[in-house]
Amino acid sequence: MTVSYRSTRGAAQRLDFPDVLLAGLATDGGLYVPDSWPVLTDREPETYPELATEVMYPFVEGTIDRSDFEAMANEAYSTFSDPDVCPLVQLDETHHLLELFHGPTLAFKDIALQLVGRLFDHELRRRDGRVMIVGATSGDTGSAAMEAVRGSERADIVVMFPAGRTSEVQRRQMTTLSDANVHAVAVDGTFDDCQDLVKAMFADEAFRSRNQLSAVNSINWARVMAQIVYYVWAAQLLGRRSTNTTFCVPTGNFGNVFAGHVASRMGLPVSRFLVASNSNDILSRLIETGELRASEVLPTLSPSMDIQISSNLERLLIELLDGNGPATAELLSTFRSTGRASLTAEQHRRLRLEFDGDRIDDHRTIEIMSEIHDRHGLLVDPHTAVAIGVAERMRESGETIVTLSTAHPAKFPDAVREATGIEPQLPGHLADLFDRVERFDSLPNDLGVVEDYVDSVRRH
Ligand SMILES: *Cc1c(COP(=O)(O)O)cnc(C)c1O
Repeated sequence: MTVSYRSTRGAAQRLDFPDVLLAGLATDGGLYVPDSWPVLTDREPETYPELATEVMYPFVEGTIDRSDFEAMANEAYSTFSDPDVCPLVQLDETHHLLELFHGPTLAFKDIALQLVGRLFDHELRRRDGRVMIVGATSGDTGSAAMEAVRGSERADIVVMFPAGRTSEVQRRQMTTLSDANVHAVAVDGTFDDCQDLVKAMFADEAFRSRNQLSAVNSINWARVMAQIVYYVWAAQLLGRRSTNTTFCVPTGNFGNVFAGHVASRMGLPVSRFLVASNSNDILSRLIETGELRASEVLPTLSPSMDIQISSNLERLLIELLDGNGPATAELLSTFRSTGRASLTAEQHRRLRLEFDGDRIDDHRTIEIMSEIHDRHGLLVDPHTAVAIGVAERMRESGETIVTLSTAHPAKFPDAVREATGIEPQLPGHLADLFDRVERFDSLPNDLGVVEDYVDSVRRH
């Protein structure tokens, strides 16, 4: 059986997996979703890459050989420093942390992007094609994408970041890669300026086709797909493949928690998902009130969750709207133009059956980081702390909760120092990060200059 993919807005052509992988966004502006959910098998393979193949292969079957897929999963997860890839750490009798940050760039983005980089290469080799990946980053995604694409024969990558506005760890993770196909660019502007430049490059048809422009942002289905696996893995490590578990997920673009929802659609027993937000709490408000209501983005200690419009929410909305693409498109366009949109009472009820959520502000985030250190001797990053706070506030007695830990504490040393007085240590492979030579280009916030730059670094 081959899964085919349709757009959440219902107007784009159905595609198979390789086209969805390379396209990212659908031509009608929607996101691709599979037209059916494969059912999880009962097999509980011993290693993470084997389970990854078992869970994901049905989504690509018919378009990639199983042995090729398994080889890519093996390679992708051999870059992780923990033998379990995503290990569990117990906080108390019923509360566990699932550590997703043992990959090359120390944030959970590596889990998807290490595989996606290999999938891109595999497909481009098959087609004898090439791509130029462009992206904008305010922090974690840029380095994870560059790390995933470095050394590729067939892909070049240019990542723009706002000059002087990323943390030093984040900047150095991007600027210390020496591979000829990766390019970090400091733009004289804000993150929004960088994002606008990316959008403008995609809108420039001639430039787009001359460069075979592509993106690996969080709306790419393949990224969601790769994240399904660790929900199943966590349940398996706990011996709970046939017992309900609650997952608490620090949430920004809704990609991570949506992958959990897919695991549950595939048959993983889940009590509920707790959606954890920082002060940018549009999602927890949606769950409480049934209304999407935009407000300004507030900078917080957990910057990867400083998001107002969670792009992957669209994949859940189409389900709540019973697969109606045009209705989904209309709801989102109402939201974009007025800053508000409402679910019906019935849609809201269905949302609440599966999801609950709450918010944690910066002050409380620091307190939680300090408490976790006092109680368990454990350093956690601010994103993880937000989720721990929500899990502890909302847990019911006897409920088994797995809280997703999405970044290594050393990625956010300032917050860790403020909360605990301790300087978190970078793991071995990055221990000399601050001694490495930086290499990046600086460009003005000017589309013409940036396009000339991309043309000049392209290898083909
Ligand atoms: C990206 C990111 C998140 C948010 O994940 P979404 O899939 O956007 O919801 C949370 N924590 C960290 C550390 C991240 O890098």
